[in-house]
Amino acid sequence: MNEFLHRHRIGLTIFVLVLLFLYVQQPARDVVQMHQFGGGTMGTTYSVKVVDEREQVSSELLALEIGELLRHLDRDLMSTYSEDSELSEINKAAVGENLSISREMADVLSLALEINTLTDGAFDVTVGPLVNRWGFGPERRRSDRIPSQAEIDALLSRVGSQYLELDTDALTLRKNADVYIDLSGIAKGYAVDQLAHYLDGRGFGSYFIEVGGELRIRGYKPGDESWVPAIEKPVDTAPQVHNIFYTRGQPLAVAGSGDYRNYFDQDGVHYSHEIDPLNGRPVTHNLAATYVIDAEAARADALATAFMVMGTDRAFALAERIGLAAYFISKRPDGAGFDDRYTRAFADYLQAD
Ligand code: ADP
Ligand code: MG
Repeated sequence: MNEFLHRHRIGLTIFVLVLLFLYVQQPARDVVQMHQFGGGTMGTTYSVKVVDEREQVSSELLALEIGELLRHLDRDLMSTYSEDSELSEINKAAVGENLSISREMADVLSLALEINTLTDGAFDVTVGPLVNRWGFGPERRRSDRIPSQAEIDALLSRVGSQYLELDTDALTLRKNADVYIDLSGIAKGYAVDQLAHYLDGRGFGSYFIEVGGELRIRGYKPGDESWVPAIEKPVDTAPQVHNIFYTRGQPLAVAGSGDYRNYFDQDGVHYSHEIDPLNGRPVTHNLAATYVIDAEAARADALATAFMVMGTDRAFALAERIGLAAYFISKRPDGAGFDDRYTRAFADYLQAD
């Protein structure tokens, strides 16, 4: 997916909500090593910080292994930009063929199908043909960027998670229609989870992982300071802090989704990269950004994308019903600023203690 960055101009990139991190400058009590590194992956950037109290491992080795893990998840498995990724092979495969898939692919698709059901179809990884037609995918952007209704209807006939027959035990997939899968709404979160499992497995208890704005944190910064994630103001200028929330060392994942980084404006209409799988069109309501806190980044990522499609009222009702921590920032109808709304579970994170 790396080519993606080059192809898109500022304001149209898939560069997602970059959560700002505020660092309270405090002298560390002990000299504790913190490995920090980052780079590009999945058409966006990643950044990892690992607190290494026992000086277990060299920064270079850690950076190399994490870089390789991300490369594998992106280029080998989930990218629609690399033509020989597992996902591209699945997308090219014939309808009705029994395809062997990787454990990772089975896990991501299984979660995607679960979130599809939970959100009444708002999250749907088969929306890919429409993502591409509206110019948000790997295909070259067309000059006639707004498709006709007939074109939308034709593409919609290929959209629907019910066309995916997944067997997570046998690790097989069958496409029962000519579907094209786009994992962009969930893969970054999944990558974050995989990195967290890797660091957990190596015995690290404090880290911060971020891929394209989706993140997972655990433990504390050196000096026992909490990681303090910030919610970004939904504006397409330089990142600004909208609100911050508090964590207390517990492992958690945060994902954000918004309509202000990857979009295009034409004839006074704002077209965002979240597509409503029911009508095949970019969402246009006033929800500007949403943040979800959950145990797993993949789930938070998919839910945040779904919530942008559902709009504030429906998304808020669902989040409350399932006890999810979710935060919604809506544009005021007069264009003058934003209104915030958050679920009861999110309120806990807005208290300092
Ligand atoms: P954000 O950039 O706002 O964080 P994500 O990157 O998580 O959002 O997901 C947006 C991407 O997901 C889009 O660029 C598109 O590729 C894909 N997508 C768009 N609409 C949907 C949808 N309804 N369900 C699943 N994926 C979608
Ligand atoms: Mg998402």
